[in-house]
Amino acid sequence: MTIELINTGTELLLGDTVNTNAAWLGQQLAAHGIEVSRQTIVPDGPAIRDAIAEAVTRADVLILTGGLGPTNDDLTRECASEVLGLQLDVDPAALATLEAYFAHRGKVMSPVNRKQAMVPPGGEVLTNPHGTAPGLYLPAALGRSKGLACAMFLTPGPPREFKPMIENHVIPKLVGLYPEYAGRTVSYLKITGLGESEIVDRVERDLEAVPGLTLGYCLGRGDVDVRLSGEPSAVEQGRGIVMSKLSSYVVSEDRRILEQVVVDRLRELGRKVAVAESCTGGTIASRITDISGASEIFGYGFVTYANDAKCKELGVEPQWIQSDGAVSHRVAQAMAEGCLNVSGADYALAVTGIAGPNGGTPEKPVGTVFAALADRSQPTQVRKLFFPGGRDRFKLLTSQSALEMLRRRLFGLEIP
Ligand code: ATP
Repeated sequence: MTIELINTGTELLLGDTVNTNAAWLGQQLAAHGIEVSRQTIVPDGPAIRDAIAEAVTRADVLILTGGLGPTNDDLTRECASEVLGLQLDVDPAALATLEAYFAHRGKVMSPVNRKQAMVPPGGEVLTNPHGTAPGLYLPAALGRSKGLACAMFLTPGPPREFKPMIENHVIPKLVGLYPEYAGRTVSYLKITGLGESEIVDRVERDLEAVPGLTLGYCLGRGDVDVRLSGEPSAVEQGRGIVMSKLSSYVVSEDRRILEQVVVDRLRELGRKVAVAESCTGGTIASRITDISGASEIFGYGFVTYANDAKCKELGVEPQWIQSDGAVSHRVAQAMAEGCLNVSGADYALAVTGIAGPNGGTPEKPVGTVFAALADRSQPTQVRKLFFPGGRDRFKLLTSQSALEMLRRRLFGLEIP
């Protein structure tokens, strides 16, 4: 099955609205093993017709979003009918639903809304309890007189109307039309600590040898999702390959991000973490506290940016800063151990590094960072890392590495 998506709306092209519908739909369809083969964005108005005329010659299924409103430039319904050579007429049931929608809100329907109840013969109305614009399903057979065989779904633009229509109408219909997708599954393995090319090197050849398995990679913020889709047996075989080669790098199999996994695990174990941050300026604490329930596992976060602060708040000895430098193994270790003592937590993470663009030396170039994990029951572990390439990226990857050290400790995995 070839499936295409057309998002209509001048606001999408101007950048005023982010095309979240496309991203969300891609994920929903992928969960059924269906991949959108092309996505087009067109402005409101007649450009919609040209985009439809082109897409129906290629696709088996076309999903359109937006342009179902009552105004003159809401032309999706009209353009789709024109391409198929169909006349629109008011559908009494759709009109009654629309009138009831307004009456329920104590309003009288304006005559301009009548066009939202227009349906071509053979078209099926998709109810929209969250807005005025009903959707439409135009079966592939409706284009026969024009030599076309593409089924179309016309859906509203506002996400709160669009999403339920996809879930309640479009996906069930698609799976009904193409039963081979009913049994397909998708699995996501979220991996951190390895780049995409390292993952490819280690597993791609074996995964490609699994019959019926579709493989994809999705780069996240400091992690990579390996997406496996196909028949359940093929997906399970693929999962087995990834786990046999990379299991310690797999953060989650249910799309939970690293900080969520860490917070969940700490809650499960009834333990607490504290953090002492220099170069990340609070990023680690921020990521932890983004997760609901963080208060159970997190009480203290220090941002000790100045040397003075590291000494005063965490008990770092000034002579260590003088002898080894603020960005050093010894200072990272002292920050983590000081943080553990002051906070009374079970674990403490500390990071100190050079985000740049200034401050680097030949010995410690911009991007150098030390991350430490102090643990009441084990010796403190320190990693020297290197993340050149801008402050945002530096902060993200440093926080990711620190949280990953903790995840590994919490699951009894070796810290490299
Ligand atoms: P209505 O006229 O009832 O609002 P419609 O089907 O005509 O529905 P549009 O007018 O195209 O929808 O879009 C309405 C609003 O929905 C837009 O202003 C925008 O905020 C949001 N929207 C539209 N398309 C998208 C999209 N692809 N992703 C995210 N939001 C969107």
